[in-house]
Amino acid sequence: MASWLLVIASAAAVLSRVREEKIMAQSSLVTPASPSPGTIPAAQMKDSMTKLETELLAKYGEAQKGRLRTGLHQVMEFWRPEDGDTPVFEEFVRAGFAGDQQSLDTLFDRFQRLLEQLDGHMHEIAREFRNQQDLDLGPVRPYDELFGGYDPAAHVLDDFFQNKLAFTVLLNFPLTTLPERIHLGPKWTRRQWAETRLAQRFAKRIPAEVNLAIAHAAAEADHYVAGYNIWMHHLLDEKGQRLFPPKMRLLSHWNLRDEIKADYPDQQNGLAKQRMIQQVMERIITQSIPQVVIENPDVDWNPYTNEVKAAAEKDSNSPTPADLKVTNSPEPCTRYAMLLKTYQAARLADPYSPTAPTLIERRFNEDREIPEERLQGMLEQVLTSPLVPQVAKLIESRLGRPLEPFDIWYSGFRPGSQHSEEELDRIVAKRYPTPEAYQDDIPNLLKKMGFPPDRAQYIAAHIIVDPARGSGHAMGAAMRSEKAHLRTRIEKTGMNYKGFNIAVHEMGHNVEQTLSLNDVDYSLLEGVPNTAFTEALAFVFQGQDMALLDLASPDAKTEALKTLNDFWGTYEIAGVALVDMAVWHWMYDHPEATPEQLRAATLQIARDQWNRFFAPVFGKKDVVLLAVYSHMIDSFLYLPDYPIGHLIAFQIEEQMKKAGRIGPEFERMAKMGRVTPDLWMEHATGKPVGADALLAATEEALRQVGTKP
Ligand SMILES: [Zn+2]
Repeated sequence: MASWLLVIASAAAVLSRVREEKIMAQSSLVTPASPSPGTIPAAQMKDSMTKLETELLAKYGEAQKGRLRTGLHQVMEFWRPEDGDTPVFEEFVRAGFAGDQQSLDTLFDRFQRLLEQLDGHMHEIAREFRNQQDLDLGPVRPYDELFGGYDPAAHVLDDFFQNKLAFTVLLNFPLTTLPERIHLGPKWTRRQWAETRLAQRFAKRIPAEVNLAIAHAAAEADHYVAGYNIWMHHLLDEKGQRLFPPKMRLLSHWNLRDEIKADYPDQQNGLAKQRMIQQVMERIITQSIPQVVIENPDVDWNPYTNEVKAAAEKDSNSPTPADLKVTNSPEPCTRYAMLLKTYQAARLADPYSPTAPTLIERRFNEDREIPEERLQGMLEQVLTSPLVPQVAKLIESRLGRPLEPFDIWYSGFRPGSQHSEEELDRIVAKRYPTPEAYQDDIPNLLKKMGFPPDRAQYIAAHIIVDPARGSGHAMGAAMRSEKAHLRTRIEKTGMNYKGFNIAVHEMGHNVEQTLSLNDVDYSLLEGVPNTAFTEALAFVFQGQDMALLDLASPDAKTEALKTLNDFWGTYEIAGVALVDMAVWHWMYDHPEATPEQLRAATLQIARDQWNRFFAPVFGKKDVVLLAVYSHMIDSFLYLPDYPIGHLIAFQIEEQMKKAGRIGPEFERMAKMGRVTPDLWMEHATGKPVGADALLAATEEALRQVGTKP
């Protein structure tokens, strides 16, 4: 789990951001059913439409009737007074409707070619503007940050409505619903898919002030989450003892959770530390945490009794404020006030999405393109699997004690490596002293992964290796004349093993990006259905890192332990995702709720999910831990992406094993492009997205490991 979260959060941050922006710009919406705010009076428009229909059908023939009606309707729904009066509307339709196949083909080709140029160059500018921040190129000046924060594409969608290019698309290509894409999509031609994605780019016209309000709420919640640190040396147990070292400052929930994972090997204090962190988390979730202990090294706190005192030990460099007030009055429900603000902001976009009128529908039907009920079904399939109690038993026997609630983050399945980190560092540093050395070796690495020599050369020629400032990331191109960039960390002493492992993961992204842009038949279909797919493909590469160093790949038992680790992580995050989903439904059902009511509802939801899926295994009821994730506060229903990611990764892995050679199989999958997740997965593996592969691998892993430790 940790590796998955980490990769999403850091290594692929830029990639995800770029993709997310594109998904935002392209996300779909069906034909609006009711006029958006501010359209020209309906009666007037209706007259115009009848007139235009008669006129244009006389010109192009009855066969165009369906297309024309849909197009007219779509343009009307998005037209605002500032776009022009009725004569302007009529003139636009007369000139813009492509009434025969040849004009339609020309129109399609032109948009496809020029939008690729637009996306590609915008992306190129954004990449150049970020270089000083992203690459190891010396000091970052304040203006570098301003360059890095600038998004040249921010106003493209508005511009395209203003200059009517968006209306040209809407007049000629139909918008679709998710059910249509799911049920009709498998029978569509590739060209129809490309047209569908073209139309989707202009499926929403959310006013700038609404987008701004959403961005503000997101930024405020981000800021709240980013400053939520606990100073661990100041936690006192019943005897007044400090279990954690000085200066340890953990961000909720990420670092707190990872500390629980890291405490398993600590024979002496591990369990006490884990129990204490659970107690801290529960205080955060219930908001009984004293306000004064958040991000404050000047107070000591017993999270069990909730007693707070002035700090008896000092481990920070900043002076204690003279006006420090030591009380244990609780945080005033700020956590839920923040969440409520993101909901209220998200809701502002609802009237501009008439047939996906909630954030929940936009997330599932547009961004993920997996219906919510289907995803819920997959998650419950994992949560209620008979494998859960079996794996739980195995964990108990490995721990030598009954499970406690924080063991949802059990990390003990990770086996040690046959090679020490120092040994691996030496091997890697010798091989890759510079970025150039890695660059030169890419064709060779790809051949080891089973790509034929000519394909290895071709792909490698599309990848540029840059020295990263951070741990590394992959940045694909957005037009075919550009190259993908592999950003990797190279120390003065050469690349180390950790850097290599990340570089191989990022190279997987680059290979996917190269193939899904340059070798897909329509550039409008560039990419993969969503982030989880590119991550799954990158993990396939990452899993080969030992083989790429010509060392023995992990043995079957090691692989089995890794599978059990992933299964347990999926079980945990599936529960978390269901809480996130239920909380958003509750907010939509209670639009006038106060933060206090939202707090009570969230606790109830967390307990209910726990009681249903975890209590039977953990033997304890009414635990609220599933509500600790910070994403729930600032990420607008993002958490379900994690379990989907696991399911998809297992499906792709299973298929790779079946196929034997990774290279050709990888290439076959990556060229499918951005169709629905199910269609992509059917093409790749013969089955839609689902939990079967994960469960099958887990069953096999249990057999491999045996039920005894
Ligand atoms: Zn990644």
